[in-house]
Amino acid sequence: MTRTPLLLATANAGKLAELREMLPGVDVCGLRDVGIDDLDEPADEYVANACAKALEASRRSGLVALADDSGLAVDALSGAPGAFSARYAGVHGDNAGNRALLLARMAHVPAALRGARFRCVLALADTAGPLRERALWRHGECRGSIGFEARGGGGFGYDPIFVPDGETRTMAELSSDEKHARSHRAMALRAMRPLLQGYLELRDAVATARRGALR
Ligand code: IMP
Repeated sequence: MTRTPLLLATANAGKLAELREMLPGVDVCGLRDVGIDDLDEPADEYVANACAKALEASRRSGLVALADDSGLAVDALSGAPGAFSARYAGVHGDNAGNRALLLARMAHVPAALRGARFRCVLALADTAGPLRERALWRHGECRGSIGFEARGGGGFGYDPIFVPDGETRTMAELSSDEKHARSHRAMALRAMRPLLQGYLELRDAVATARRGALR
């Protein structure tokens, strides 16, 4: 168990729950715990947004921060909704509206052309530590297709209309362990994990050395 707290820099309850579940042994906290309501998403691109959110959260809290920028790219819609996934139907976080609009736009698209992929970029920042104003990032993706109707009560966002490759169930019909075995977020975290673990251990060692020097 590392002792350095890690701020999960997302206001999305679904992402927060999944990241918490996938980071046992890490002392995590959420934006609410440090009095931050939301973070700016200044770009229309995942890497820039994830890095901007991690840096802003770290600057405002003084903590090591991990941010997530993610979305769904649909082949038949030239990659839409992409970085606009959270507000596809106009209102940020209107999951039901986003799903309904996507199903309507895909209504006449045959099964063979309904391919899509979820993408996630995780960014790590620590503006008060050795990283300064740099952010480290890793990405992950999960391929699948868009169903013809919403099914399942698990997950969040577009999960009820996304069927991962090799599955007949939607992402919202999988258990959380099954989702974590294949999701874009889990793949990004798998790539980020060695960096994150090493970085938190380094911060623990620096804190221990500082306490020793003050004694
Ligand atoms: P943002 O990263 O805050 O811009 O929002 C990402 C949006 O993409 C979410 O609001 C969801 O609509 C969608 N999204 C990202 N990850 C997932 C997922 O794991 N399942 C379903 N929808 C997701």
